[in-house]
Amino acid sequence: MSETSPIPPSEASRARASRPELSIVVPVYDEADNLPILVERLKTVLAGAVSSWELVCVDDGSRDGTLSVLKLLSASDPRISGVSFSRNFGKEIAIAAGLDHASGDAVVIMDADLQHPPETILVFLEKWRAGFLNIYGQRASRAGESALKRNLARAFYKLFARFGETELPEGAGDFRLLDRKVVDALRALPERARFSKGLYAWVGFPSTGVTFEVAERQHGETKFRFGKLFSFAFDGLSSFSTVPLKIATWAGVVIAVISTLSAAFFLLRTVFFGTDLPGFPSLIVSIMFFSGIQLISLGMIGEYVGRIFAEVKRRPLYLIGERVGFDARTVDHPR
Ligand code: UDP
Ligand code: MG
Repeated sequence: MSETSPIPPSEASRARASRPELSIVVPVYDEADNLPILVERLKTVLAGAVSSWELVCVDDGSRDGTLSVLKLLSASDPRISGVSFSRNFGKEIAIAAGLDHASGDAVVIMDADLQHPPETILVFLEKWRAGFLNIYGQRASRAGESALKRNLARAFYKLFARFGETELPEGAGDFRLLDRKVVDALRALPERARFSKGLYAWVGFPSTGVTFEVAERQHGETKFRFGKLFSFAFDGLSSFSTVPLKIATWAGVVIAVISTLSAAFFLLRTVFFGTDLPGFPSLIVSIMFFSGIQLISLGMIGEYVGRIFAEVKRRPLYLIGERVGFDARTVDHPR
C-alpha cells in the first residue's frame, strides 16, 4: 500500500508478518461439498503462478457443516483461513468481509461452486502484471440459464446503461482480480447497500475484461431465486441513479398540465353549453388516477428514505461469529 493511503492496513495484514502476492476471496454459503474441490483446483492452478497465495473464505451463515470443512482445510494448510458470520448476511456483504480480511497485493474474488474456472486466474494475473489494476471476468455466454433469466438480465443491463450514473461492462460479475489499490478504495466506501458490480466500476482505475466460460455448478443449487434477483436489481438502480425519483416528478408535472387543461375545457363547456351530466364517472376516474400517481411517487421516495435510514443507522456491515486460521489476538473492527 502506498504511504499516502488514507486507509489503515487491514487487520489481517497487520496480523501477518508478510503478505502474500495473491489472495483469493470466496463467499461460501452451504458449499461443504464444493470447498475441498475448489481448494484442490486452486492448489494445482496456483502452483508456480504466484510466489505466495492465501485463500480467505467467508462463511455466510452456512447450515450444512461448511464451517467444519473450512476448519479441517485450514488445519491442513496454513494458507487457508476464513471468517464465519453470525448469520446469513448475503453474498455482497460476504465479499466485503473477504476484502477486509485479505492481505494480498492482488485479490481475486470468485464463487465457491466452481462456476468460475480457476484457470482464468492465470489470465487475470497476466493482465495484472501488464499493468491493469481492475480486471473483470466477463461471461462468454449465459448458456445454462433459463431464457427468462437471460432476457431479464439483458433488460437490467440496458436499463442501467440508460439511467445508471456508472457504466457497467456487460456480463461482468463478481469473478475478478483487484489490485491492492482498488481493494483499499472499495474498503473506504462507507455505504451499507452494497451493489458491488456498480462499486467496482465506480472506483475506476485501469480496467480490462477477460472472457470466461461459466462452468456447471458442481454440487448443490443456486441460492439466487427470482425474487432475490429483482430486489438486487432495484438496489443496483437506486444506489446508482436518481432517475426513479425524477420519473415521479415528471409524471407529476405532466398530470398537472393535463388537469389544468381539462379544467379549462370543462369550465368553458359549462359556460357555453350548460351542463346536462353530473360528471360522476370522470370525477371517480380522475380521483383514482391522481391517488395512483401520488402513491407511486410516495413509494419511490419511501424506497430512498428507507435506504437513507439504513445508512444513518450505521450498523456494522456484518458480525463475525468465528475466525479460522487468523491470529487470535487480532481485534476485529467490522465496518
Ligand atoms: N453465496 C453467499 N451468500 C448467499 C448466497 C450465495 O455467500 O447468501 C455464495 C455462494 O456460496 C457462492 C456464490 O455466492 O459461492 C454464488 O452463489 P450461487 O452459485 O448460488 O449464485 P449463482 O451462481 O447462481 O449466481
Ligand atoms: Mg453459482
